[in-house]
Amino acid sequence: MALRFFNTYSRRVEEFKPRKTNAVDLYTCGPTVYSRAHIGNFRAYIFEDLLQRHLEARGLKVHRVMNITDVDDKTIRGAREAKIPLQKFTQQFKDAFFEDAEKLRIKPANEYPAATDQKYVDKMIAMIGDLISKGLAYQADDKSVYYRIKSFPNYGKLAHFNLDELQSTGRVKHDEYDKEHVGDFALWKAWDQDDGDVKWDSPWGPGRPGWHIECSAMATALLGDQIDIHCGGVDNIFPHHEAEIAQSEGVTGKKFVNYWLHCAHLLVDGQKMAKSLGNFYTVPDVTAKGFTGRELRYALMRVHYRTQLNFTWDGMNEALESLGRIDDWLERLRGVGENAERPTSNVERQTGSDFEDALDDDLNISAALGFLFETIRETNRAMDEKKLDEKTAAGWLDWWERINQTLRFESDGAELPDDVKKLAEARLQARLAKDFRKSDELRDQLNALGWEARDTKDGQKITRRAGAK
Ligand code: AMP
Ligand code: ZN
Repeated sequence: MALRFFNTYSRRVEEFKPRKTNAVDLYTCGPTVYSRAHIGNFRAYIFEDLLQRHLEARGLKVHRVMNITDVDDKTIRGAREAKIPLQKFTQQFKDAFFEDAEKLRIKPANEYPAATDQKYVDKMIAMIGDLISKGLAYQADDKSVYYRIKSFPNYGKLAHFNLDELQSTGRVKHDEYDKEHVGDFALWKAWDQDDGDVKWDSPWGPGRPGWHIECSAMATALLGDQIDIHCGGVDNIFPHHEAEIAQSEGVTGKKFVNYWLHCAHLLVDGQKMAKSLGNFYTVPDVTAKGFTGRELRYALMRVHYRTQLNFTWDGMNEALESLGRIDDWLERLRGVGENAERPTSNVERQTGSDFEDALDDDLNISAALGFLFETIRETNRAMDEKKLDEKTAAGWLDWWERINQTLRFESDGAELPDDVKKLAEARLQARLAKDFRKSDELRDQLNALGWEARDTKDGQKITRRAGAK
C-alpha cells in the first residue's frame, strides 16, 4: 500500500503524492522564543522528525524549513520586562531550543529562518502590499493593516467553519472596533510605545509584522509558492494556518499546501500542556529527574501523532523499560555467534517491511513498535533455545540498523549523566587494578542512582535499572 496521511484540509486519509519525483518540501512551524520550549512543543517536533525520517526511509529527499518566531507580543513583552534588547532576550531561548532538539535526536531542518531577518521582513512587507492592492487587506484607523477575510472565499476551509459562526462566537478585544470584521487579523501591527525600539519602516508607517504573515513569507521565500506538507500542533489550525492559506494564496493565486498534518496535544492531568496554564515540563526538567533524551524521545513518539498523549512519570519509566529491552536484545544478538547451535526457522519476517508498511499508514507508530517488540520476543525465544545462528542474528541486526535510522532509539553511551559517568570510569579503573572490593562498592553506588553495571566480553556496560525511578 502506498504512503498515506490524514489531511486536515479534507479530513480524510489520502495517498501521498509529492509534487516532484523523489523530493518533498516540508514546512514546520517552529518555536516562539520567549521562553524555553516545553515538551508539548517537542511532541510536535518529534512527530515531524518521525515524518521526515520515514519519508527519507522511503527514498524521498526532504527539504525541511522550520521558522523561529523571534518577534511577537510575547517576545517583546519578555524583553521589556527583562530590560534587555529583543535579540539578546530571544537568543537564549533559540540556543536552548537547539540544545534540547539535539538531546531528543531531532534531525536539524535545512533552514531555520528568523522572523526578524530583514530579508524576510522585506518579503512580508511586499506580500502585505500585494494583498492591499488586490483588495484583500486594508489599513485601519489604528494604522495597523488587517486581512479582509470576507474577500477570501476559501477562508475557514481548513478549520471547517463558516464566517457567520466566527461572528457569533465573537472574541472581542479592545481594539476590534477598528476592524471591518471581528475575524480580520493583523498583517502589520502599527508601532506603539510598548514596542520600544522594536520597529521596522513600512509604507504604512513604523511597526512590525503579525505572526501569521511571518510564516507565509518565510515558507514561500524558501520553498516556493507551493509546498507538499505543512505541519504543526492542532492549536495551529486556527487561526494560524487558516491565515497562512489566506495570505499565501491571496498573493500567489496558487494552492499553498497539498497536505496539512497536525499532531494532537500532549496533556498533563488531562489538560493541554501549555505555558499559559503553567503545567509544563521542559527537557531539562525531565533530565533533572535522571531520564535521558532518548527516553523522552521514546515517550513522546510511541503514541500515534493524532492521539492525545498524557505525560506521566510512569510513562517515562515505561519508556526506560522498553529501551532496556531493545538494548538487551541488541547485546544478545551481537553476542550470538558464540553459542548458536543450529539455525532458526523463524527468519521469514526479517527481510520484510512490516515496520515501514505500518508507518506508511499515516505514521502508525504503535503498530510499527508492535512489530519490533514481537520480533524481540520471537528472537529472544529462539536465542533462549539456542536456535538462532550467526547469519540470522546478523540479518536482524541489519534490519535494526535500517529501522533505527527512523527511530533513533539506540543507546550511544553518551547520554549518561555526569555523576554516573564518573562512577563508571572509577569502577573501570578499579577493575583494571583488580581492586574488586572497590569495584563492588562503586557498583552499589551506581545501583543507588538507578544504574546497573555489567561486565561483558566487550567491557563494562552501564544501563538503566528498569523501575528505578
Ligand atoms: P508555539 O511556540 O506556541 O508557537 O508552539 C510551537 C509548536 O508546538 C506548534 O506547532 C504548536 O502547535 C505545538 N504545541 C504547543 N503546545 C503543544 C502541546 N501541548 N502538545 C503538542 N504540541 C504543542
Ligand atoms: Zn507558522
